[in-house]
Amino acid sequence: MTSPHDAIRAAAGDGWSDDPATIAPHLVDWRGRVRGAAAMIVWPRSTDAVAAIVRAAAAGRVPLVPQGGNTGLAGGATPSPAGDAVIVSTGRMTGIAAVDVAGLTVTVGAGAILADVQAAAAAAGLAFPLDLAAKGSATIGGLVSTNAGGVQVVRHGTMRAQIAGLEAVLPSGAVLDQLAPLVKDTAGYDIKQLLIGAEGTLGIVTRVCLRLVPGPRDRAVAWAGVASPDAALALLRRLRAEIGEVESFELIPAAGVDLVAAHGLRPPLAQAAPWQVLIELASPRAAGLTEALTAVLAAASPIDAVVAQSEAQAAALWRLRETLPEAERRDGVAVKHDIAVPVPALPGFVAATTPAVEAAFAGSRVLAFGHLGDGNLHYNVRAPAGHDSAAWVAANGAAVTRLVNDRVVAAGGTIAAEHGIGSVKAAELARLGDPARLAAMRAVKAALDPLGIMNPGKVLA
Ligand SMILES: Cc1cc2nc3c(=O)[nH]c(=O)nc-3n(C[C@H](O)[C@H](O)[C@H](O)COP(=O)(O)OP(=O)(O)OC[C@H]3O[C@@H](n4cnc5c(N)ncnc54)[C@H](O)[C@@H]3O)c2cc1C
Repeated sequence: MTSPHDAIRAAAGDGWSDDPATIAPHLVDWRGRVRGAAAMIVWPRSTDAVAAIVRAAAAGRVPLVPQGGNTGLAGGATPSPAGDAVIVSTGRMTGIAAVDVAGLTVTVGAGAILADVQAAAAAAGLAFPLDLAAKGSATIGGLVSTNAGGVQVVRHGTMRAQIAGLEAVLPSGAVLDQLAPLVKDTAGYDIKQLLIGAEGTLGIVTRVCLRLVPGPRDRAVAWAGVASPDAALALLRRLRAEIGEVESFELIPAAGVDLVAAHGLRPPLAQAAPWQVLIELASPRAAGLTEALTAVLAAASPIDAVVAQSEAQAAALWRLRETLPEAERRDGVAVKHDIAVPVPALPGFVAATTPAVEAAFAGSRVLAFGHLGDGNLHYNVRAPAGHDSAAWVAANGAAVTRLVNDRVVAAGGTIAAEHGIGSVKAAELARLGDPARLAAMRAVKAALDPLGIMNPGKVLA
């Protein structure tokens, strides 16, 4: 008799392995904190192959764990330790079709790497307006499934806003075909929206039609020091009112600049400032943005500011921001939170929560940075200086997270702004999620995946 795993192997053709050394890198998350086990990994090349694998898995009740670039930060792509799951990697579904310049779209396989999609759009004089530091490994399927954000959301929205069409294999093995880039479609429920941000719990995304925008012909990048998150938001409002074209607006505390400096990068400002912002303006027209940005900064008189005068200087400023997660990782383990509150509430949230956390956990150091214009901060809490950070986090992490998350919810916010829930936040979502929304999510999950084979244990605890 064929075992369920034999049937999946047959469906996968030559694209499978049960070699422990081959599977090993797929069993641990990017941060090295979530570890699991799997019976096998498969690398389908086509939607039909994914559908055959899913049908075989459903017949044998085998759990499937979709995996793209494995850069996710919530443990969503890591199988449970049970060891019976099959990892479905999109590593061979990397096709990028010709850019549709007239329609401003490009259709790509779920395994296409973000940086490759950006390059394909740029080669056609267009841009794919979603960017994040993991772009060299993160895949379109992963970005869709986490509804990723990044550094251009302030202007273009999250991944959801970039999706014109989507194809996916549902847990039954049926292929959902909503790939056509329809601008209007009111024919009932828009089921593809459920797959966006579902973290692989409702199906496997196989192809995506992405929206593109005209490529930038002018851009300006600056770094400015400000007294507070409030002052940073005032600067954002002023830039929007007086120039527009705000593509990115990132907040970094002085402690974050110190961390990247310890990493060997030169701090950009001569004067110390408790909070600093990285600003990018971009326009598809030649718009004199560097001059305009310089003028607004001169009038707003922040504590200090530098405006990039060349592409190399602009790249150096961006490198400071993009190095921060890695610099923080090297500094030690921290209690991580990816929170968002309504934008106007963010300065008040930081002003009230940081002293509360640092008082409740003596010596702890909050490092809050990120996407101020989206109300989204990576609100990380570091161990007291000189402590074994791993031991401190193991002892205090859950209590720190409860304190932070309770305050986020009280401020009308979310405990998962852009990284998703995965396995690491599932218990907190169950504790704090809106009951009606959680009940609806469970009902959708039960309707689409009654056997519970699709990424079990993720999102819904
Ligand atoms: C240095 C660094 C910086 C980052 N910066 C940001 C940032 O600024 N903003 C942000 O939003 N994220 C950021 N991330 C997180 C990460 O890059 C994103 O979550 C990204 O979307 C994950 O893509 P991936 O291909 O690596 O997905 P994976 O990690 O492989 O998977 C993520 C989730 O999606 C599911 N999945 C993957 N592919 C599919 C598919 N085809 N069908 C169905 N489900 C699927 C997985 O099961 C899992 O639940 C960062 C990560 C790193 C390491």
